[in-house]
Amino acid sequence: MVRYVQDFAEGGREQADLLGGKGANLAEMTRIGLPVPPGFTVTTEACRAYLATGAEPEGLAQEVAGHLAALERAAGRRLGDPDDPLLLSVRSGARYSMPGMMETILDIGLNDASVHGLARTSGHEDFAWDSYRRLIQMFGATVMGIDGALFAEALARRPDPGQRRLLVEDFRRIVRERTGEEFPQDPAEQLRRSVRAVFSSWNTERARVYRRREHIPEDLGTAVNVQTMVFGNAGPDSGTGVAFTRDPATGLQGVYGDYLADAQGEDVVAGIRNTVPLAELETIDKKSYDQLMRIMETLENHYRDLCDIEFTIERGRLWMLQTRVGKRTAEAAFRIAAQLADEGTIGWDEALDRVSGEQLARLMFPSFDTAGAGEPLARGVPASPGAAFGAVVFDSAEAARRAAAGEKVVLVRGETTPDDLPGMVAAQAVLTSRGGKTSHAAVVARGMGRVCVCGAEAVEIDAAARRFTVGGTVVAEGETVSVDGSAGAVHLGELPLVGSPVMRYFETGERLPGVVDAVARLMEHADATRRMGVRANADTPEDAARARRFGARGIGLCRTEHMFLGERRRLVEAMILAEDDAGREKALAALLPPQREDFTAMLEAMDGLPVTIRLLDPPLHEFLPDHTELAVRVASAEAAGGEPDPHDVRLLSAVERMHEHNPMLGLRGVRLGLVVPGLIALQVRAVGEAVARRLRDGGDPRAEIMVPLVDTSDELRLVREEVDAVLAEVSRETGVEVTCPVGTMIELPRAALTADRIAAEADFFSLGTNDLTQTTWGLSRDDVEASFFSAYLERGILRDSPFETLDRQGVGRLVRIAVEEGRAARPGLKVGVCGEHGGDPDSVHFFHQAGLDYVSCSPFRVPVARLEAARAALVPGRARSATA
Ligand code: ADP
Ligand code: MG
Ligand code: MG
Repeated sequence: MVRYVQDFAEGGREQADLLGGKGANLAEMTRIGLPVPPGFTVTTEACRAYLATGAEPEGLAQEVAGHLAALERAAGRRLGDPDDPLLLSVRSGARYSMPGMMETILDIGLNDASVHGLARTSGHEDFAWDSYRRLIQMFGATVMGIDGALFAEALARRPDPGQRRLLVEDFRRIVRERTGEEFPQDPAEQLRRSVRAVFSSWNTERARVYRRREHIPEDLGTAVNVQTMVFGNAGPDSGTGVAFTRDPATGLQGVYGDYLADAQGEDVVAGIRNTVPLAELETIDKKSYDQLMRIMETLENHYRDLCDIEFTIERGRLWMLQTRVGKRTAEAAFRIAAQLADEGTIGWDEALDRVSGEQLARLMFPSFDTAGAGEPLARGVPASPGAAFGAVVFDSAEAARRAAAGEKVVLVRGETTPDDLPGMVAAQAVLTSRGGKTSHAAVVARGMGRVCVCGAEAVEIDAAARRFTVGGTVVAEGETVSVDGSAGAVHLGELPLVGSPVMRYFETGERLPGVVDAVARLMEHADATRRMGVRANADTPEDAARARRFGARGIGLCRTEHMFLGERRRLVEAMILAEDDAGREKALAALLPPQREDFTAMLEAMDGLPVTIRLLDPPLHEFLPDHTELAVRVASAEAAGGEPDPHDVRLLSAVERMHEHNPMLGLRGVRLGLVVPGLIALQVRAVGEAVARRLRDGGDPRAEIMVPLVDTSDELRLVREEVDAVLAEVSRETGVEVTCPVGTMIELPRAALTADRIAAEADFFSLGTNDLTQTTWGLSRDDVEASFFSAYLERGILRDSPFETLDRQGVGRLVRIAVEEGRAARPGLKVGVCGEHGGDPDSVHFFHQAGLDYVSCSPFRVPVARLEAARAALVPGRARSATA
């Protein structure tokens, strides 16, 4: 039989799915003997039944009545008894805490009769009436849907605590006028309606939006906790507070919290009166303080983690009202995990599971020194991390103008659209007053690596007047603001930037005590734990060297494009414009020495480790001047009556000849090598000669040649034949035996689907998940991210950008096919990934499960990939982080 209600004394924290987070932890505290006011939990099962049918499930009412009766027997009091009433709180609590759920209702059971009973038993007339007015206020606002401002206004008109009885009259009048019914006097009805209101709050708009964004399933439902009231507002020897077992900012142990005497729970957060630091409780009520310290130690040892707690003292008696594993900063997460592992409280594997790549990435950005900064001007959603400052501008044109003049700017908009793109490119940071993590501004800023805070609702923009206001503060165009994309805060003026000590550690190995040491130790354990290798995508010797310092064991993708830019662009032009073989060969021969130098330097920086060199990939016309520019040059020379430069004319005709409607799907990748004679030979020769040089110099070069955009095994076979021939030639000429593995990128669906055939020709596979995502979805990343993407994300058509997090259903399926069929055809085939997904935590977990040998990502993401590859090896599937 399904049970819809469970007593606190019956459950435990392992039942969070059934009891919600709050209920499971109340049960756990009860189980380990802490003083928790008795109560029971209406389970998520009951809520799911209610949501499915729109009515309380059969039997729920009886179960609630049964548990209530037991509660009354144990307390020796009855709910709403006119002489000595038992009072209750009704508290929502889902598996994951989320905004939009019903607020807690306190003092259920008070009515016109029992308020007198409470006054008599407590000996405090004002306190009883104050409790009653709180009930009407909370019930009226949350269950009956009355605008809470009406109660607040009435309260402001009668601030005197001696007038609470009259205030109750006012409140009841508000209820009558707004709803046409009386405030319900029957305690059972108060309880029933409160529970139902909690169920219904699962479907408020705010909760739904939040669940969609956080990927919380729609069908979990919430539990409802019904608990005996204790009173922190029963006089000076009562009070209420919150506390952490450690500092959630730094992870240090100590006494962290706030206490408010003669107050009920919600007064602490409401900021109505000033709280005192928790340490002062020692002088106010030593006995309770000592007991609280013992309980906090018990909780930390029991949960083996930082806990945050709510407590109330009623006339010198301490009660625990809530605990949970507390939220923390990235710094605290690493420090606490390492501390607990040091103490032996948890193992190092568990410590790894308690931190995340996302947190590590946050620790690698520079940050603002906010010591003297005070409160931020405004807060919003931390949409794209990092810290940046600049002059405020309100449109793209102004941003571009000032940036061109060398000024740093911050683009401030209500929200952004594709028209704002030039401004976003020009700006250091983007600030919007509307939109969340999936808004246009957020998606595009993350894609570009710009700092972004969005949805800063307090920011009121007056674009016409070229200024924005926050409260009374006016910020005019050109004034400087500092945007903290990691914290989601905006400050007036230029805050000093401090480099990240964690970044410095990766760069130099400098290992300071504190957070750096914690990161270092966790990374050491990660490296010992992970199965997958981590390489970097690097195109220059400097990037290769940095990647190596960051812990990359090789290069998974060396793009050769930049070797054809700058000065060398002229040589590419000459090659394209060549009218005969001799001309082309001359141009290619001129490209050989600089390419060979580049490869030699790369192989030296990664000596002893694999360097996967991709043959030229982009369409050749990308190396030619812009069509419009050329056309204008030629046309204006003609208009001036002169002869246009013949080189320009030939270039223009080449550009027109090579024009493609969809270059992404045109003449590029392996296709280029197969139709432009000599192009492959040039590159392979440059690689081969570099390898020979390094070998002669006593190095250990491990070049691998990678062929892009392969569709069929025949393409790869032809390239391989050419590679082998050229390397044999180089070996003959140099007298040094040069061989390189030849592999291919799998970045087209057809390649993945024919992986078995392609594997017959390939020494390795590297999944090019950027292009594989574009071609599987039929989306051009550059076009869609800035245009309709954010609309798709906001409407929930997409949950994540498939360019940030690998799409497991579609692209992931192709990945699995490529891995499985490739290895079936060629056992032991080495398979890696070189798309940007290689540095994305969720994708790294997927690649681990799919059996990849390594991931390759940008140098800065290498530490993140190392950590996540280890976490993936710990848990099957992506476990929610322990602090979620
Ligand atoms: P939230 O999830 O917003 O923290 P809570 O259910 O914890 O909501 O309750 C809000 C406030 O009411 C908290 O300060 C809590 O300590 C207090 N509270 C809840 N139940 C009781 C109770 N039975 N007795 C006294 N205070 C309570
Ligand atoms: Mg709470
Ligand atoms: Mg590609």
